[in-house]
Amino acid sequence: MKAEILSIGTELVSGQSLDTNSQWLSRELNRFGIAVHFHTTLGDDLDENVSAFRIAFDRAELVLMTGGLGPTQDDLTREALAQVAGVPLVENAESLAAIEAMFARRNRPMAPRNRVQALLPEGADPLPNSVGTAPGIWMQVGRSVAACLPGVPHEMRLMFEEQVLPRLRRAGWITNTIVHRKINLFGKGESDIEAEAFDLTARGRKPEVGITAHDATISFRITGEGRTEEEALRSIEPTVLLIHERFGPLIVGEGAEDVIDGLVAQLKRTNATIATAESCTGGLIAHTITNVPGVSPYFPGGVVSYANEAKVNLLGVPENLIATHGAVSAEVAEAMATGVRDRFKADLGLSVTGVAGPSGGTPEKPVGLVYLGLATASGVHTRRLEIGPEQPRHVIQSRSAKQALNWARVALMPLPDAPG
Ligand code: AMP
Ligand code: MG
Repeated sequence: MKAEILSIGTELVSGQSLDTNSQWLSRELNRFGIAVHFHTTLGDDLDENVSAFRIAFDRAELVLMTGGLGPTQDDLTREALAQVAGVPLVENAESLAAIEAMFARRNRPMAPRNRVQALLPEGADPLPNSVGTAPGIWMQVGRSVAACLPGVPHEMRLMFEEQVLPRLRRAGWITNTIVHRKINLFGKGESDIEAEAFDLTARGRKPEVGITAHDATISFRITGEGRTEEEALRSIEPTVLLIHERFGPLIVGEGAEDVIDGLVAQLKRTNATIATAESCTGGLIAHTITNVPGVSPYFPGGVVSYANEAKVNLLGVPENLIATHGAVSAEVAEAMATGVRDRFKADLGLSVTGVAGPSGGTPEKPVGLVYLGLATASGVHTRRLEIGPEQPRHVIQSRSAKQALNWARVALMPLPDAPG
C-alpha cells in the first residue's frame, strides 16, 4: 500500500513559502506504518490539479492533499476532485450548517463565497474542521482513498489527528504503531562507535538501529513496531539496554538531550557545584550551563579571563607561569582551574585556554590547540586537545566547550574506568 501527498498552492511552487505539511504528514504516516512514496507540490491551476490527481490515484492507494480548500477562486481542490471522479459538486447541508455556526460564533457575517466551502464532490464525506471554516474531504476515487485537508498547518494537523487517523484505523490501514528512541553519545568518533555497533546497525535487524552525528554527538536511533505504542516501546527496550551496557559512560542522554544535560544530571546526582574559567571559549561554557533552567544551585559562576592580566588578577594565575609557558599551556589551564575553584568555593573548577584562530597559531601552538583543566578535591588535571587548524573559529570554540563539559560529566560519574 503506497501513499502520496499532494501540496497545493502557488505560494509553495513559487518559492514564497515552504511546504512543511508534506514533511509533517509523512512523519506521521511513517510512524503508523504507512509508506509515503511520493510528494507532489503544485500550484493553483485547475488542469494541473486534475492531471496531478489522476497520476496520484493511479500509483497510490492513499492520497493526502493539503491546501486549496479555501473560499477564493484559486482554491480548486473540490472542483478538481469532482472532475477526476466524474461527479458533480453538491452542497452538503451538514457542512453549510457548520460553516454558518463558525461565523456566528465569531460574530461575523458570512460572505456568500464561503458557501462554496460546503460543496463536495457527490459521494464524498465532509471532514469536520474544529478550528477553521473549510471542511476537509474524504472520498473513494477508483481503488484509492483521497483525504483533502486545509493548507493552514495547525488546521491540517488537527484534522489529520481528529478525522483522518480514526478513518485510517477503521479502514484497516493502520494496524500498528511505530516508535523511535534516540540515544545520544559523546566522547568518541562516529567511525569508532560505528565499528563497535556493526551488529546493531546491520540491515534487517529488528528493531532497526540507525546512527547519526550532529556537532560531535553521535546518536543511535532505534525504531520499534507494535500493535500499540506500549508494545512498540517494549520491543526496543532490550536494544536500549544493550546500548547502555556497551556504551554506558559515553551516553549523555536521550532525545534532545546533549552533553550539558548529562553533566547537569551528574551535578544533581552528586550535589556538586562547578565554576568555570574561560579564555578562548569566551563564556560559551557558562552560557551552555546557564541555558539549563534550575541550574543555579550547581553553578555559582564563571570568569571570562581573556587577557593575561585577567587570568592573573581574577584567577590568581602566576605571571611568571604565563611568561614561561604562554597563556595556551597545560600549566596555565591548571592554574585557571584551581584559581576558579578556590574563588567560587566550588567542588569542580573547569578551565579552557586555546588558540581559536584563524590567526595567532605558531608551529608549536597551532590553531585548534586547546588545553582544558579540571580541578577537584583530589587534585587538578589537564588535557590537550587538537581540534585542527582547518576548523573555523566557532567550531574550535564549541568543540572545546563540549569536550570540557563532557570531561566534568565523566569525572562525576560513578565509574572508576570512565573513558573521556
Ligand atoms: P489554503 O488552504 O490553500 O488556502 O492555504 C492556506 C495557507 O496555509 C497558505 O496561505 C499557506 O500559508 C499555508 N499552507 C498551505 N499549504 C501549505 C503547506 N504545504 N505547508 C505549509 N503551509 C501551507
Ligand atoms: Mg491556497
